[in-house]
Amino acid sequence: MRMTISKDDSKGQQLRRKHVPQRSCVACRQVRDKRNLVRLILAAGTVEIDIKGKKPGRGVYLCSQRQCWELGLKGNRIEYGLRTRLSSENRRMLLEYGTGLPLKEVT
Ligand SMILES: [Zn+2]
Repeated sequence: MRMTISKDDSKGQQLRRKHVPQRSCVACRQVRDKRNLVRLILAAGTVEIDIKGKKPGRGVYLCSQRQCWELGLKGNRIEYGLRTRLSSENRRMLLEYGTGLPLKEVT
């Protein structure tokens, strides 16, 4: 069977709105664009920061702002999300990363 592919050249109609995946932060629960969040994954028993967000496996997300890291690491939300236990060293490593993030602008 032959299909005639009509070249539907609708370039001018294309909306310049890209689909951005939405994820929610485990600390503040706010739903944001994935690119505004930092992904954490479990790799060999250690919670790691997945900067590019491309590593396979279960992941949780935190806003790239200090408050969420402090809040997220204070409780067991990350542990719960990743079904793991954070060692104190692991927690400290993550908190350290959070310290380098900007604070949320207070509105
Ligand atoms: Zn957050």
